[in-house]
Amino acid sequence: MSSAGEVVSAVRDVVGNEPFVGLHVPDITAVEKQRVQECLDSTFVSSVGAFVSEFERGIAAFTGAAHGIAVSNGTSALQVALELAGVRPGDDVIVPTLSFVATANAVSHVGAQPFFVDSDPETLGMSVEAVAEVLRTAKPSAEGPLNAVTGRRIAAIVPMHTLGHPMRIAELVALAAEFDVPVVEDAAESLGSRAGRTHTGTFGRVGIVSFNGNKILTTGGGGMILTDDDELARRARHLTTTAKLPHRWEFEHDEVAYNYRMPNLNAALGVAQLERLPGFLEAKRRLAARYRERFADVPGADFLDEPAGTDSNFWLCAVRFDGGRSVRDDVLTATNDDGLQCRPMWNLLHLQAPYRHLPHAAVPAAEELHASVVCIPSSPALAAS
Ligand SMILES: *Cc1c(COP(=O)(O)O)cnc(C)c1O
Repeated sequence: MSSAGEVVSAVRDVVGNEPFVGLHVPDITAVEKQRVQECLDSTFVSSVGAFVSEFERGIAAFTGAAHGIAVSNGTSALQVALELAGVRPGDDVIVPTLSFVATANAVSHVGAQPFFVDSDPETLGMSVEAVAEVLRTAKPSAEGPLNAVTGRRIAAIVPMHTLGHPMRIAELVALAAEFDVPVVEDAAESLGSRAGRTHTGTFGRVGIVSFNGNKILTTGGGGMILTDDDELARRARHLTTTAKLPHRWEFEHDEVAYNYRMPNLNAALGVAQLERLPGFLEAKRRLAARYRERFADVPGADFLDEPAGTDSNFWLCAVRFDGGRSVRDDVLTATNDDGLQCRPMWNLLHLQAPYRHLPHAAVPAAEELHASVVCIPSSPALAAS
């Protein structure tokens, strides 16, 4: 078992002696300032402007998606993606209990209910076996499989690539296809991560990424819907821009829709950050290699590495500790006392106030991960060279 003091020394050996080291801080340079200044000078700071389309094209090209639709944040992207996939009020959506609350909230925002399942300890993502169990016990119907536990239609599956590590997405997509249930990929944390050669967020019918301030690329706040389907892309654009019909001056809207378009000012920041993304990915890979090597010498500590056959963006580096919750808590106390901003995984979603009344699958692996994993400082600047 590792002592908290050994963990502090190991992290300090990698990140240096700055009094405070954040978990993941944005990296803003003259490149970003120049683009944002250009945007300000143009006065096109809001929902009309050239940076939005440039950023959409850039992310689509980087991920290999045919279309990218830029929106206000990752949560709104996921909400619209679920709607596009055909999720309706009263449906169930299969979601990993080990995720950020946005994954479940987006399901609630469309009036559906998350059905939480267990995680895979190897990838930290949703367990494919757990999803298979829900689908195989479901009752077939003309509308789709009905969850044996809730009786509700299983309208979508939302895998998430935890901390940037790709889950077993190809297997999950094949399983979902057997039951004709759409996969909506929450790739909020995994911009730059690939399973095989394919970018995360482009396996399912529709996927999303986030550009929140703590993600690998930030637009301040922002998100993007990714899809290869021309019709879904057209609908995504329409729904996120108030469903306004194109006209030189008339304000005609053909359905109730959203004002979710990403402002040009945020996209200007995004265009600059995207230029720097390859550098961020290299820096994070170097940082991960340094932690991997240093933690090999710490007893009872396992650096969480990228799953075999994948390239992770190592968005957040993390370590799993033997000895249960008390060891995890000692590590959190000692590191944070030392100015190292370390964080546990999110509290499991099936136990959070808005969701604890819902039925869910058994989640022993997620409980184990929650009790044993600590995320450690992961800013690209920590391994700039
Ligand atoms: C960051 C994140 C989101 C979406 O985040 P926004 O803050 O709304 O951009 C969704 N899911 C996961 C797993 C996330 O980490």
